[in-house]
Amino acid sequence: MDQSGVTAETPKGPWGPAAPTAPPCSLADVMSEQLARQLEEEDHTFPSATSPAPGAPDAACDTTSDLMLAQVLQLQFDREFDEQLRREERKFNGDSKVSISFENYRMVHPYEDSDSSEDEVDWQDTRHDPYRAEKPQTAPRRGFAGKGKNITTKHDEVACGRKNTARMDNFAPEVHVGDGVGMDLKLSNQVFNALKQHDHSEQRRSARLHDKKEHSTAEQAVDPRTRLLMFKMVSAGVLENINGCISTGKESVVFHADGGSLEDTPVPQEVVLKVFKTTLNEFRNRDRYIKDDYRFIDRFSKLNPRKVIRLWAEKEMHNLSRMRKAGVPCPDVVLLRKHILVMSFIGRDHSPAPKLKDAALSPEDMADAYQQVLQLMQVLFQDCNLVHADLSEYNILWHDGKAWLIDVSQSVEPTHPHGLEFLFRDCRNISTFFQKRGVGGAMSAFQLFNAVSGLDVPVGEENEAEFIAEIVALEKRNEDHVQRRGKKAFPAAGEEAGPPLEPDAYD
Ligand code: ADP
Ligand code: MG
Repeated sequence: MDQSGVTAETPKGPWGPAAPTAPPCSLADVMSEQLARQLEEEDHTFPSATSPAPGAPDAACDTTSDLMLAQVLQLQFDREFDEQLRREERKFNGDSKVSISFENYRMVHPYEDSDSSEDEVDWQDTRHDPYRAEKPQTAPRRGFAGKGKNITTKHDEVACGRKNTARMDNFAPEVHVGDGVGMDLKLSNQVFNALKQHDHSEQRRSARLHDKKEHSTAEQAVDPRTRLLMFKMVSAGVLENINGCISTGKESVVFHADGGSLEDTPVPQEVVLKVFKTTLNEFRNRDRYIKDDYRFIDRFSKLNPRKVIRLWAEKEMHNLSRMRKAGVPCPDVVLLRKHILVMSFIGRDHSPAPKLKDAALSPEDMADAYQQVLQLMQVLFQDCNLVHADLSEYNILWHDGKAWLIDVSQSVEPTHPHGLEFLFRDCRNISTFFQKRGVGGAMSAFQLFNAVSGLDVPVGEENEAEFIAEIVALEKRNEDHVQRRGKKAFPAAGEEAGPPLEPDAYD
């Protein structure tokens, strides 16, 4: 048997003939020193640990290279460690807005790492590139820039300026900061702080405006419940369509709508919906018009403020009905649903008739309007037993050559504790308006008051305070009279208008 244990035959295997093997040699050859030396000489590329190659520096003499090698290896190792750390940091933070930094666990000092290009975007390199995705968010490296070189601190003007410019990206989108393409912008702290303050105050302002807008929508009385009521009117066929808002006042919102039919009775082609506002503030000031109105006094005291709003709508409806019966030109009531009053539209083709204040009337028409208004006030007082209580050029519409009275929710009967004061105020408004518009024969407020009421309050020097004192005395006497007669003697809400005031009521 061959001692070498290696046969000369070429081994056969399933993958074909094997590569030619080294020539066989005996164990004695393997152990031969001569052969070892020969092999060593042949393969001089492998340095020997024990016998350094001729001419190689003495390792014992040059320890610095070892140290350097070790440091280089350590740095390499640390970088790999840091790289792994970064990956874990990224994985840990994911898309989260709040991120945790592993910075403190890094092995490589930022200075040593300064040749690492990763994650760093150089301002100068990228600022000319208009297609760059985003401005760099990171500041330049800080700390020692090298032996004997200058120190770059966070207070460095250039670094700080660039950082401030980058931070402008955090401003609200409404603040246009530009894209800075092609510009190496460096914003000083002072400028940046001023801009930041402006951004904050703008944001606060826009929040305030937004708030107001939201609030005013609520104030337009069309809260979800009101919308539902309006929707029901459309779905019941009373209205064909609700077209839009004609007016938004302090106490009501008026909408234009196309009429449908109500229980087989056709509704006028054009109607308005007067929606009384469910915000209560404004009505607080107007309680005096309703709480002392004997027609509503019992109900007023029992109702919560929200329901009182419905009384306003109801009051307008009753007053309009009275006026219509007496032939006063005013809207015709179609329907009352809670705080929504539907009535006929004064105007044509979706255009409401102008208010007297806006109507462009010739002097003759203006004089005619005056005569009409005077007559309307008399009929209102004497036939309808009402004082408008908010009569002015704003609540009279001019339509088809006629003056139409609107907005009578606050109208009261003359026996109201302040009824005559309200009448005097109406007279003052009307008299002032027509006198200003050059109607020659327009009476003074005092004369008008007497002409409308049929009373004979002494005008004297036309001293307003004295005149009002007389009126208040009359009201007091009237109130005593009413109390003596008892409230029952007067018609209840919704009933026929009572007879015109007997002259003795003011005796
Ligand atoms: P407010 O109490 O808010 O003053 P108004 O009854 O005076 O309510 O209505 C406000 C405005 O809506 C009026 O000035 C008028 O322009 C319009 N308006 C009200 N009712 C009618 C109507 N029946 N036809 C046409 N326009 C109307
Ligand atoms: Mg009005």
